[in-house]
Amino acid sequence: MLDKVIIANRGEIALRVLRACRELGIKTVAVHSTADANLKHVLLADESVCIGPPPSSKSYLNMPAIISAAELTDAAAIHPGYGFLSENADFAERVENSGFVFIGPKAETIRMMGDKVSAIRIMKEAGVPCVPGSGAPLGLDNDENLRIAKEIGYPVIIKASGGGGGRGMRVVHNPAALIHSINVTRSEALAAFGNDQVYMEKFLEKPRHIEFQVLADHHGNVIHLGERDCSMQRRHQKVIEEAPAPGITPAQREMMGERVVAACRRVGYRSAGTLEFLYQDGEFYFIEMNTRIQVEHPVTELITGIDLVKAQLMIAAGEKLAWQQSDVVLRGAALECRINAEDAKTFMPSPGPVRLWHAPGGPGIRVDSHLYAGYNVPPHYDSLVAKLISYGEDRDTAIARMRNALAEMVVEGIRTNAALHQEILAHAAFQRGGLDIHYLERRLGLK
Ligand code: ADP
Repeated sequence: MLDKVIIANRGEIALRVLRACRELGIKTVAVHSTADANLKHVLLADESVCIGPPPSSKSYLNMPAIISAAELTDAAAIHPGYGFLSENADFAERVENSGFVFIGPKAETIRMMGDKVSAIRIMKEAGVPCVPGSGAPLGLDNDENLRIAKEIGYPVIIKASGGGGGRGMRVVHNPAALIHSINVTRSEALAAFGNDQVYMEKFLEKPRHIEFQVLADHHGNVIHLGERDCSMQRRHQKVIEEAPAPGITPAQREMMGERVVAACRRVGYRSAGTLEFLYQDGEFYFIEMNTRIQVEHPVTELITGIDLVKAQLMIAAGEKLAWQQSDVVLRGAALECRINAEDAKTFMPSPGPVRLWHAPGGPGIRVDSHLYAGYNVPPHYDSLVAKLISYGEDRDTAIARMRNALAEMVVEGIRTNAALHQEILAHAAFQRGGLDIHYLERRLGLK
């Protein structure tokens, strides 16, 4: 087993990684910015190292500072969490070249999947269905691009190959707007991701977002852990996630599961990963792969009983997967509500000191949060402050428990989006399940 791990992240996921390390008897090192000295996991870690000032670019994205911290504390491995450097192939490479274990896939796999065009090509070759599209970066020939769009059929979506976080996308409804949209997306992509490559896909009007979780070890063993439905989104950001996805049949799960496992095997995937799909009219269309642990991983943990972060640590230590596909049994249903420090109506961030924090509890409730009374939510980072996760023997029970949990939760000092979650969970449409990705924005009057 690994002896000591650097947790190169902050907030709830840093605490989640710390807890998994503790269970496995692994020592922990928290690396943090000057704004984060009082983060819960920093206070709990065996050691901590300050790696820079508040802006992420100078701390959580500061590769030399993080690698120096690993050298200074004689750590064996680095867990990147999600966001920040978790999908940065150069970082993974530098970590490994410095003699540490990067807890994730190989740098070359991250690089391949980080480029969406190359990821789509690989998935197609492996027999995974993709959205009809250009299949290649768009060139500068306007007539050719108009021809491609006509062939795909409007509306189309122009997407940045290097895009992420729901940015770098533009929907086009007719030929008159195409060339201008391609040019604008190109320059935005260059500014945001340092890469002006863009590609074209059919824009699906009413898809659901359904993703498959995989685990792979260094010995060629790959399993999938079923799917999650993350269709409840605002500005392409997930708000509520659940597992299993309502209405997906065991036959569909098995068919897609086999394909994602085959694709992972083909690219020599290792560690935890997620293949994201749009799902419409009974068909799945691959959009991208996330080569890291995801925010919504707990819903899969609750219905499979498999601890994904512990699995990542064991895989990184070179151990064989403890499960075969036949050992993965889905039981019950789980939901996750992302609690953000923001106004429930205006979505304005609401950082500041937390005066009171009362976490909900009871049967089937899990709270992943770094909050405590007296903690000061800094303004510099993502606004996620807690994840409420509920489990039930069926989806109705999980929803009922979540509504209880939201009502029980008390946070004073900062505003949260708890009221928005209560409102969504009370909708008959949500309770029926299977809503498309535009539902929430339509409901909020944004579309
Ligand atoms: P990112 O890496 O920025 O998250 P994705 O490719 O995963 O980008 O897409 C994010 C979201 O954008 C999807 O969950 C979906 O809501 C929307 N989207 C992406 N591609 C399409 C498409 N072809 N048709 C309709 N919506 C899309």
